[in-house]
Amino acid sequence: MQFTELNLIPSILKALEHENYTEPTPIQQQAIPPILSGKDLLGCAQTGTGKTAAFAIPTLQLLHKNNAPKPGRRNIRALVITPTRELALQIYENFCAYGKYLPLKCAVIFGGVSQKPQEIALQKGVDILVATPGRLNDLIQQKLIDLKDVELLILDEADRMLDMGFIHDVKKIIAKTPSQRQTLLFSATMPSAIAQMADSILKNPVKVTITPVSSTVDAIGQRLYFVDKGNKKDLLLHLLKDSSIESAIVFTRTKHGADRLVRHLTKAQVSAKAIHGDKSQGARQTALQNFKNRTLRVLVATDIAARGIDIDELSHVINYELPNIPETYVHRIGRTGRAGQSGVAISLCDFDEKPYLADIEKLIGKRIPVIKDHPYPMTQTAPTPKEAQPVRPPRNKGKELERVKPKVKVKG
Ligand code: AMP
Repeated sequence: MQFTELNLIPSILKALEHENYTEPTPIQQQAIPPILSGKDLLGCAQTGTGKTAAFAIPTLQLLHKNNAPKPGRRNIRALVITPTRELALQIYENFCAYGKYLPLKCAVIFGGVSQKPQEIALQKGVDILVATPGRLNDLIQQKLIDLKDVELLILDEADRMLDMGFIHDVKKIIAKTPSQRQTLLFSATMPSAIAQMADSILKNPVKVTITPVSSTVDAIGQRLYFVDKGNKKDLLLHLLKDSSIESAIVFTRTKHGADRLVRHLTKAQVSAKAIHGDKSQGARQTALQNFKNRTLRVLVATDIAARGIDIDELSHVINYELPNIPETYVHRIGRTGRAGQSGVAISLCDFDEKPYLADIEKLIGKRIPVIKDHPYPMTQTAPTPKEAQPVRPPRNKGKELERVKPKVKVKG
């Protein structure tokens, strides 16, 4: 199928050509027609499937066709809510790219930076607003944002918003939009709290499910190294000697772990930076930019900070620590192998992480191939006594996600 078969207007087709997109991805093929015909949509899809374009393209076309903007101040007619600043920026950039030949204005707002420039952008009038829930709610309360003209509401990564404790903010925001609106909800997993919310806010939605979270993208080569916890740093350095690893995201579970690892890598002359919630927005953006333009080889990230980072042609994902939630493994390795490209996902597993590994292999329905030939084979043969173990989060099997109450509310 070609984009030309989706009844898109020439200005959008021209922009897609400019992006070198030839064929719509499966979610784009299935979601664009019903959205264009005005239907609500429930999309079960994760980052990497092309879901941003699946909602951004028809949103631009609907806003342009239904009611082309009049001169003067514009009111927000499409609102996208997404959990993280990085995702918000990426969605905004996608709207700008696909809408570059249309007279529509898009703006992005998120927390952690000064409010003033965002206020100024809003005062000038915007047609499409991309926002994280915390900052959006703040600005609504300050009466700087009015959602009474919203025709299209898009909730992106709804399951992550739940995980991050945003669900009440999101519900408050939805209540400020007109009930006569078109609503699109995207989520990688469907915990019951999200299914209930979808039921209450979507009207006869078309349901589109792409790559269930349990089926790992086939293009990704997965490898597993058993190693003692104390040797992980050295094994990582050993693996990074392989020059075919041009760029890699390395996942750690904690912010401190990420910082410690960056210090170790830097000492060994490997260019690395960390991105996590304690870093300023500026520092995160610079790290991401340097990683994208290949001046930085390794980006060490925690799951929340890395969620949704859109980096083209990422060759390697390294799980320095296995996640306690098996779905997170699939999200992590989905950073590579995007839009049909091949990638490699390497996991380092210590003895005490074996239960996490069992959960992951159960979820993906296969054993991850083990690489035995390496200089730091595992020597530990029994679990570390409880009192000597670092505090590890409990294992969490996806379905129970909604019961996990975040201790800290992350403001968007
Ligand atoms: P997303 O799932 O929205 O994060 O998109 C994943 C990546 O796929 C992004 O880098 C997009 O720019 C890219 N992409 C989206 N749609 C297409 C397409 N039809 N052809 C090629 N690349 C695409």
